[in-house]
Amino acid sequence: MPELYYIDTMGCQMNERDSETIAGVLQSLGLRPTDDPQVARVAILNTCAVREKPEHKVFSKLGDWAKLKRARPELVIGVCGCVAQVMADEIRARAPYVDLILGPRNLSALRAGVERALSDDRCAICVTDPDELPDDHQPAARTPGVSAFVNVTYGCDNFCAYCVVPYARGREVSRPAGDILAEVQEVVAEGYREVTLLGQNVNSYRDPHSGAGFPDLLRAVGAVEGLWRLRFTTSHPKDCSESLLRAMAGTPAACEHLHLPIQAGADEVLARMGRGYTYAHYKSLVDLAREIVPGLAVTTDVMVGFPGETEEQFERTLAAFAEIRFDQAFMFKYSDRPGTAAEAMPEKVPEPVKQSRLQRLVALQNEIGRAVNAAQEGQVFEVLVEGRDGKSPEKWRGRTRGNKLMVFSGGQDRAGKLVAVRAVRGFLWGYLGEEDAMA
Ligand code: SAH
Ligand code: SF4
Repeated sequence: MPELYYIDTMGCQMNERDSETIAGVLQSLGLRPTDDPQVARVAILNTCAVREKPEHKVFSKLGDWAKLKRARPELVIGVCGCVAQVMADEIRARAPYVDLILGPRNLSALRAGVERALSDDRCAICVTDPDELPDDHQPAARTPGVSAFVNVTYGCDNFCAYCVVPYARGREVSRPAGDILAEVQEVVAEGYREVTLLGQNVNSYRDPHSGAGFPDLLRAVGAVEGLWRLRFTTSHPKDCSESLLRAMAGTPAACEHLHLPIQAGADEVLARMGRGYTYAHYKSLVDLAREIVPGLAVTTDVMVGFPGETEEQFERTLAAFAEIRFDQAFMFKYSDRPGTAAEAMPEKVPEPVKQSRLQRLVALQNEIGRAVNAAQEGQVFEVLVEGRDGKSPEKWRGRTRGNKLMVFSGGQDRAGKLVAVRAVRGFLWGYLGEEDAMA
């Protein structure tokens, strides 16, 4: 019987990609996956520090795993990701039974660390160098499916006032375009048909050899044979250029979807956040994007209750949402992150006020999202089919190029295929549809 490993992944797509590397390394050591930590020999928590709530979850999860380790002292516990980087000392103090602490850029130490922990019952390894260049040639056990993640940059240099990412993931570095293209070709050869290029701010990508920027990279990746769909995230509004929008429009594989975090609607709040754009700039960028890329879906991130946000400033976020009409939005309450500029700002917004602002914004966006999808009833969308729908297994489930969910009835053997589907009803979560017989 091979030994088993269990990975719990929190947070963003970058963590999902990192967990594929963690899985790949553990598999190369002869371990096999399990979804039950009770039977695992190695349990890894890949953590998120972007808001307070996931960080609390780390310590409650580690508390659960401490009980497992008491019953089975041979259990190896590892903590990776952003909490490992920014709270290594606290983890050591509060959870001394953790064997391995690795920052998001230090997975090159995973293999040796796990080998040592497996052979030595009292080992404590901690590697948290936020500026190490990640070893992207480590094996990856990718999540099966139609879609794969490929990193283009690591880290972030923007230091938005609220954000822990630059501390957790270090200074920004771009991968050589040749390495990115080779990884895309590899995943396409493995059968993936859609690739999402990942970076905290993909617009600042620069090939370290040629100096070429993200629009060139997008065109080059889009030309990889066998790749049907290309996505990327995240674009920062201060760096999102017209040339990127033209590259999207001119690259058939590039999907008509732009994730462009707005964060706030009031210029004073945007300035205090250090975002480097005004609402007018943001709005004109969305208008230009919608003009250059017909049928574009625009999604966003936003937060309410940034320090000093007045009722009137919050209402400008509501007004921005009403004016722009996003297809989808990820909406958050601001939370203090240790060591950030915003943590030290006065005039913290009280929790009940944040809560009620979030509710008002969510209510507005739900109404808009539903209306946007309902207005598309009758349209035919290209859907990349992921498989049977979990809730209604007689139906298929996939995503449109705008990244909306489509649950539809259709023919046999549709998994992994591109299918033309007519949206019959639009909902907040996506559409219910029928395969289009005319296609
Ligand atoms: N690099 C991306 C976002 C990374 S974090 C970008 O620049 O947009 C993902 C989202 O989490 C952010 O867009 C922001 O909306 C939210 N977020 C980040 N820090 C936060 C904090 N301290 N409190 C609440 N939400 C936060
Ligand atoms: Fe955080 Fe700003 Fe960097 Fe995004 S761009 S990761 S929000 S610091």
